[in-house]
Amino acid sequence: MFTITEFPLPYATDALGPYISQETLQTHHGKHVATYIDNLNKLIDGTNYQEVSLVEIIKESANRPEDKKIFNNAAQIYNHDFFFHGMCPNCEAQIPQEIIDTFGSEEEFKKKFKESATTLFGSGYTWLVRDGDELRIINTANADTPIAHNMKPILTADVWEHAYYLDYKNRRADFIDNFLNNLVNWNFVAENLKK
Ligand code: MN
Repeated sequence: MFTITEFPLPYATDALGPYISQETLQTHHGKHVATYIDNLNKLIDGTNYQEVSLVEIIKESANRPEDKKIFNNAAQIYNHDFFFHGMCPNCEAQIPQEIIDTFGSEEEFKKKFKESATTLFGSGYTWLVRDGDELRIINTANADTPIAHNMKPILTADVWEHAYYLDYKNRRADFIDNFLNNLVNWNFVAENLKK
């Protein structure tokens, strides 16, 4: 059994204002993530998936079309936990040098990440990942996650409408600007960049 207390928000629900409201975080974490956890518990009840970790559930179910619902709910729990940990209130850390070296400048990285996030059609996530030796920006659709494709996640922005609609309505680009300029936890990113 997974519980929401295993995946707590790393800050208070009102900590990311004015960029992400308390109402959004309460709904996003307290309702959406809680529902993915409830669904996963029901779907894996009485199966071998109960014996393994969340990451193992994702990797195993990714190759089994008949377990698509299990994959979707498990990946959503993982993706959200990763997204929430990638932000912090009043973050003061600097963008890691490896990102500047790879993309040319902080501005160029943010421009490419934003471009990717604003052109993602429908629901999904924009990620900075390590793919082999390479740092890349990718999009994944719906619940899909880089760990199902042997890529290491470094940072993600949730661009499902539920992530920003209460605060930004249809203005996804403004949400991404605030995410990149005011919310990213670069210390978390730096930890993930360590090989
Ligand atoms: Mn979400």
